[in-house]
Amino acid sequence: RFNKDFGQHILKNPGISDAIVEKAYLKPTDVVVEVGPGTGNITVRALEKAKKVIAIELDPKMGAEVTKRVQSTPLAKKLEVILGDVIKMPQIPPCDALISNTPYQISSPLIFKMLSMPNPPRVAVLMFQREFAKRLVARPGDALYSRLSVNVNFWATCKHIMKVGKQNFKPPPKVESDVVRIEPLLGSARPNIAFEEFDGLLRISFNRKNKTLRAAFGIKEVLAMCERNYKVYCSLHNIPIDESIVEDASAEDANMGSLDDEMDVDDGAEEEWGGVDADEDEDMPTFFKELNEAQAAKDAAKTPSRNPKSRIALVVRSKVNKVLTGTGLADKRARQCDQNDFLKLLIAFHEEGIHFS
Ligand code: SAM
Repeated sequence: RFNKDFGQHILKNPGISDAIVEKAYLKPTDVVVEVGPGTGNITVRALEKAKKVIAIELDPKMGAEVTKRVQSTPLAKKLEVILGDVIKMPQIPPCDALISNTPYQISSPLIFKMLSMPNPPRVAVLMFQREFAKRLVARPGDALYSRLSVNVNFWATCKHIMKVGKQNFKPPPKVESDVVRIEPLLGSARPNIAFEEFDGLLRISFNRKNKTLRAAFGIKEVLAMCERNYKVYCSLHNIPIDESIVEDASAEDANMGSLDDEMDVDDGAEEEWGGVDADEDEDMPTFFKELNEAQAAKDAAKTPSRNPKSRIALVVRSKVNKVLTGTGLADKRARQCDQNDFLKLLIAFHEEGIHFS
């Protein structure tokens, strides 16, 4: 009866549905968005507490079921069901609270979608698989510390609320679950920077989180992206772009702290942290996944005798090097950096006209 492809694990313990709604501290004036109402176990409780619940459901059968559940009750007029995939919607509808027994396939995109809302909800109470919840609350140095951890704790505060055993679901999932409460920073407390910029910097930094930032930013494709974006910045600010070619830029490269060469330095951390990178941010675009292969191909094809580079590429390399050195973060690894380090880095890059989105 339940569709596993849709992550349908229905809560059968009413105490847990109650606790999820209770931990959102709903007010009678609140508009609540629920992702994946299923048969409506959490929905009905939220409807009792809030002004309105917008329930977004992928499976039309479930959509019909939750509608039927409140039919001919006073709750019916407070419920709006939207059929569709919440991740494909241009935006999560504006709301005061977000609640979900989250279908595990969309854990990461749902969080990113919420954090990037210009006006995020006051509170989100979300149930996730335990491993994922651990990533949300991971701190620098923890094995599960990732781009997701930094983003969540930069744009919000995140607290573990309770553990939920698999026997509380029908059918039981393979792993245990956890409920977390996320309170996004609102208004003037919200950092005044673009979400995509901060996240763009984190994608680069965590692409190889056990390598130094110098290595992470020294990758050819990353520098090419910085160069593309810098050219846009130059056009917008009427800064001339010198595309002339320096036939052999080896000397300049060496002067710039050999950004690329750091790629070859391995401190053995890979073994110690084995496997962690593999499940790192499943929504990482192909571009970043391909970087590692590109680097390997590059290493194989190393012919240092001739090294032509455009002037603008050299300017960007020098700016990147200046930022990394100037912030004192060049030799740190993403896994050790906290959100203030990343913010400091982003501000320094912006001062040099380097952007990531
Ligand atoms: N809220 C119910 C409960 O706790 O008993 C059901 C939770 S079940 C884990 C997840 C629900 O999300 C299912 O009803 C599933 O059909 C729905 N769903 C799966 N992917 C979705 C998506 N991308 N957008 C909206 N709903 C989705």
